[in-house]
Amino acid sequence: MPRKLKSDIKSRQVPRDKESQMEFVEPQVYLIAESKINFDQLKAMLASVGEETATSWFARTKEASKSEGELLTEVAGRICYKSFGVGLNPNVTKIRESSRDYIDNTLSKGDGSIFEHATCTFAFLNVSRVLTHELVRHRVGVAISQESLRYVRPTHLRFWLPPDLQEKKTEVKSIVEQIEQNYHALERSYGWDKLNFDAKKRITSALRRVMPEGMATSIVWSANHRTIRHVIAMRTTESAEIEIRFVFDKVARMMKERFPLIYNDFEFTELEERRERGDQSTTRFERRGWDFHPWRDAPALPPRDLNPHDREVTGCQVG
Ligand SMILES: Cc1cc2nc3c(=O)[nH]c(=O)nc-3n(C[C@H](O)[C@H](O)[C@H](O)COP(=O)(O)OP(=O)(O)OC[C@H]3O[C@@H](n4cnc5c(N)ncnc54)[C@H](O)[C@@H]3O)c2cc1C
Repeated sequence: MPRKLKSDIKSRQVPRDKESQMEFVEPQVYLIAESKINFDQLKAMLASVGEETATSWFARTKEASKSEGELLTEVAGRICYKSFGVGLNPNVTKIRESSRDYIDNTLSKGDGSIFEHATCTFAFLNVSRVLTHELVRHRVGVAISQESLRYVRPTHLRFWLPPDLQEKKTEVKSIVEQIEQNYHALERSYGWDKLNFDAKKRITSALRRVMPEGMATSIVWSANHRTIRHVIAMRTTESAEIEIRFVFDKVARMMKERFPLIYNDFEFTELEERRERGDQSTTRFERRGWDFHPWRDAPALPPRDLNPHDREVTGCQVG
């Protein structure tokens, strides 16, 4: 049985026919993991920090909470000033009771650090090297694992057709098929069965240079919510590249659904002209009130309320 399986794999990997196996694909976004809370430890910690005041705050908040990532963010923020309830910190005379008010206020002040505690892990499949090259420019608060085209020898080319090339689909297909056929002709000129793994790796790595930048590949991307918010804002803007807009449009919708408080201040705008052009990324996500986008004039941050009597302590101050 193992011998038969091996020969099957070989024939799939190096097609002998001239027929191209190239296929058009669409980028896919999967949220494959997110931060989870150890509730026993958290409850013990809150009892230690704030006894009944903190544990009853937790019981009320957990009940209303939609995600552990948001709960974790709020706990991290409230620990800064012991604002789990009145009485724990003599400087605090009132607190924001609801998680929505608390997170909204933190976002409007720009206190971003508490949003670094919870993370999400995405798998982006069928994305081009164009997209992955842009994605990895975001360095802060991320972890990246990308399909290695030194090790993985492609069996056939998969390719996403951008809307601007839709009318030229036949021509694009023909070009990519020719590349694929030429690639396989060159690939077949090596005696793969006689090569050791190191030699296979070196030749696979050398051969990838003739592949198009648009070839579909995969990447796993983990980021904290502060980073995800930043990247959504930058990569769904109208001037961002179409494929990364397409992917981060999906990310933004997932995040708004899964973490409604953390992404509450994101609003999306339907871009009619894009729809008319057949563009699938017809929305732009923007943060209300603050915007670090360097390609547009950023509106001023809302003024901070510095009156200590009126102001509820919500999270760690910036700077
Ligand atoms: C529409 C668009 C067009 C683009 N065009 C080009 C282009 O033509 N050529 C090109 O090379 N790139 C281009 N880029 C990429 C862009 O210049 C950034 O490299 C990329 O978007 C990463 O964003 P970031 O700098 O915010 O980094 P991130 O890693 O996402 O950092 C997040 C934030 O952390 C802070 N930060 C990060 N690193 C540092 C640091 N070393 N020192 C101090 N503060 C830091 C900054 O406030 C930064 O905004 C483009 C991006 C977009 C969205």
